[in-house]
Amino acid sequence: MIVIKFGGTSVGETHRLRQAIEIVAERRERRPVVVVSALAGVTNQLVAATEAAAAGRFDEALELVTRIRERHEESGFALIGQKIDFYESFTAQLGRQIEQITSILRGVSLVGETSPRAKDLVVALGEKLSSVLFSYAMRTKTLTGVHVDSGDVIVTDDRFGEATPLMAETTAAARLTIVPESERSHIPVLGGFFGRSLSGATTTLGRGGSDYSAALIGAAIGAEEIQIWTDVDGMMTCDPRVIPAAKVLDLVTYDEAAELAYFGAKVLHPKTLWPAVEGQIPVRVLNTHNPASPGTLITRDGKPGAHGPRALAMRNGITVVQMTTTRMLEESGYLARLFDVFARHGVAVDLVTTSEVSVSATVDDSKKLDALVRDLTLLASVSVIRDRAVIAIVGRDLTREPEVAAALFRSLAGIPVSMMTLGSSGLNLSVVVDAARADEALRSIHRTLFEGGA
Ligand code: ADP
Ligand code: ASP
Ligand code: MG
Repeated sequence: MIVIKFGGTSVGETHRLRQAIEIVAERRERRPVVVVSALAGVTNQLVAATEAAAAGRFDEALELVTRIRERHEESGFALIGQKIDFYESFTAQLGRQIEQITSILRGVSLVGETSPRAKDLVVALGEKLSSVLFSYAMRTKTLTGVHVDSGDVIVTDDRFGEATPLMAETTAAARLTIVPESERSHIPVLGGFFGRSLSGATTTLGRGGSDYSAALIGAAIGAEEIQIWTDVDGMMTCDPRVIPAAKVLDLVTYDEAAELAYFGAKVLHPKTLWPAVEGQIPVRVLNTHNPASPGTLITRDGKPGAHGPRALAMRNGITVVQMTTTRMLEESGYLARLFDVFARHGVAVDLVTTSEVSVSATVDDSKKLDALVRDLTLLASVSVIRDRAVIAIVGRDLTREPEVAAALFRSLAGIPVSMMTLGSSGLNLSVVVDAARADEALRSIHRTLFEGGA
């Protein structure tokens, strides 16, 4: 069995959906299981609808939901309209889902606020609709697509918006719902991004989480490969939207891919590699718009003999918290006390550097910052530097490559650096710069390291 996941742009327009179905048809011998994202833009519209409803603007929310409905109906008509019984059954399912969400939005607008639980129910609609549409559309290609509700497969905890999957329960559920369909030569189609908690509520895995769903399902059914079909030719040396000269990486390790995803390479959700590593399942990143290209293969071993920098990633919206005190000199356990404050406020720390009297840490959760800083001030004098970006150079043996740091400093000439870390694994060399100059820094580093520039 293989898992084939299509992202939003791969199913965003009718001709793309046809292409995606063709891709599944060509792989039918491998017993595919399909995971789809919401049609491009739909999740953002659902977030906007929830916010409009919570602000009491129900009409605006309703208009967004109506637009979503019309878009699915139009796509459905173009794909399956010639089979009128399919089309009617599809629109009936669509109608039921839309009605449920409309009444939730009406409730939200009456109360004047939304809960994380209600929000998850609304934003999961995109994948609920796209997966039903995809399963119907497959049948026109004589593929027996069967819709499987991800709520019956991905079992999670109750952390709405960023739920944690429960792997043992998910594996058991996938073996009951997906595997028997596949054994009957049916092709299961599931929506990514959402699951259901043990208490029965719809939960979501975090924005961009359909990649994670695909990997979870792959691990649960023991797939031989997880294919992530998107809108670029694979994992590249940098985001091609920022650096058009970025090159495709043919082979990368799980570690390299995870590091890139964690530091902002949107092509994969950061948690995607966890289940894949667990099951040692190869992950392939492929382009729906260019299916002939070989893409990127992510495995434990990656590219034989590769060393040095392999790619760059960038994450914006970073804040640096600098804590300075002479007490560090005298007291043991001082760092533990500082980081305990971060833990108590539930703020995750990414990069850390220390000197004799100061510690700097980056965080990307600025919502909880004020309360955090208030408590830290009891232990140290604190300064906060906002609007930073982390640029990460990811590769192998970076600690053993003196030329990498030299090239980095050369390419950053004139751009102030707030912080720098070289991970002990040698996988990651990161710099923190002013967000306003981050694109410029990224271009310059890419030119130096990957385009043979000076
Ligand atoms: P999907 O809708 O298929 O999930 P995403 O928009 O989430 O697609 O991810 C694909 C996008 O990721 C690409 O269009 C590209 O701009 C961006 N991206 C960022 N970093 C990288 C990288 N290193 N390699 C490839 N793409 C990247
Ligand atoms: N549709 C969801 C989002 O936009 C999940 C995904 O596309 O992976 O975040
Ligand atoms: Mg994505």
